[in-house]
Amino acid sequence: MSFNSLGLSNALLKAVSKQGYTTPTPIQQKAIPLILEGKDILASAQTGTGKTAGFTLPMLQKLSQGQQLRHRPIKALVLTPTRELAAQVYDNVKTYSEFLDIRSAVIFGGVNQKPQVATIRNGVDIIIATPGRLLDLQNQGLLSLSKIEILVLDEADRMLDMGFLRDIKKIISLMPRRRQNLLFSATFSKEIKKLANDFLNHPVLVEATPENSTVDAIEQKVYRVAKSLKTGLIIKLISEGNWKQVLVFTRTKHGANKLCKKMVSAGISAAAIHGNKSQGARTKALAGFKNNSVRVLVATDIAARGLDIPLLPHVVNFELPNISEDYVHRIGRTGRAGASGEALSLVSAEETTYLRDIEKLVSLKIPVEIVEGFEPDPNASTEPIKQGQGRGRRPHNSNKSKSQNSRGTDDRGNSGNNRNASRNKNRNRRRNSNRR
Ligand code: AMP
Repeated sequence: MSFNSLGLSNALLKAVSKQGYTTPTPIQQKAIPLILEGKDILASAQTGTGKTAGFTLPMLQKLSQGQQLRHRPIKALVLTPTRELAAQVYDNVKTYSEFLDIRSAVIFGGVNQKPQVATIRNGVDIIIATPGRLLDLQNQGLLSLSKIEILVLDEADRMLDMGFLRDIKKIISLMPRRRQNLLFSATFSKEIKKLANDFLNHPVLVEATPENSTVDAIEQKVYRVAKSLKTGLIIKLISEGNWKQVLVFTRTKHGANKLCKKMVSAGISAAAIHGNKSQGARTKALAGFKNNSVRVLVATDIAARGLDIPLLPHVVNFELPNISEDYVHRIGRTGRAGASGEALSLVSAEETTYLRDIEKLVSLKIPVEIVEGFEPDPNASTEPIKQGQGRGRRPHNSNKSKSQNSRGTDDRGNSGNNRNASRNKNRNRRRNSNRR
């Protein structure tokens, strides 16, 4: 199938061809015609499947067909969980609208609002935003959502995980009832299905990959290793494999910093990206990683969400995530848009339960390897790691997770054991800074 058969205008086809894309990805083939028809869609699509173009191209076509008023009201809103994803979607919108008379703006917290406000004042058709800053500006009377025709909820599962449900509901209440809704999510939890039920109008279900499955092109492997030997093993793998671009996940910000330092001491250029880093530091780390001046990017889950790093060859789980769905998100950073990739997990005894839960979720027994000199500790307990519960999400083993997280704080800075208190704290913190 070619892009020509999808019903897109010449201006959009020209922009697509300029990117060098010849064949629409499965999600694009399915979603684009439905969106052009005006249908609401509920799409199951992981990062790396080409989903952004899947909603951006038809959205641009629809907006460019309507009458252009002199004062441009905001007609489309794309909500994303993180600043990085908002910036990426915005880049996509700019790229694909090159040959159209469409204006767009990106809005997120952690930076001065003035330039964002000035852009909106000039009139924009599309806004890509994180929920916190959008509501801030709306509360200040600096933008109106009363003329929205298309709403996109991108990575909706992650938005719910991050506690944005209330903000999403508030934002939707500010929009006209008659509008087209497009919901994209990598995983379909009960909560996502409820959100879809509440806000979508007879949605068409679009599935580019089976529910909760991992991308086929990704080769997955587990290294069973003693916890104390993980740093040595990852350094060995990177050095001996001569890997040039590796994304490494840790569960905590503290862990990310520590590992990053050890990599640098071992002569491997590395940068950390997590919620405690300023926006400037995050942007710099990501840019260095993309232009290959930084070999290893060590990230926590929330900070890494939505990073678009094309053709990333290696993803390493230095620690397995305690939320199985995060595994799917993490390894979705490799094997993107048809390219092959490798996802490795360093698993110590205490992560055995996490591994079992992940294998259940992805319906796959992940092959195991043991490297000589880096064997697992036969005497270590398989009791799961104690978790802080700050992310407001249910860990694998909630009854065993009530105590303080001894390994540092999670990406939102929580280490306490009171779930509700930390949820409220999170909400307030997010309101204030939207800092992940
Ligand atoms: P996404 O899932 O939207 O984050 O896209 C993942 C990557 O695939 C991005 O780097 C896109 O530029 C790229 N991409 C999107 N559509 C296509 C396509 N039809 N053919 C090749 N690459 C694509």
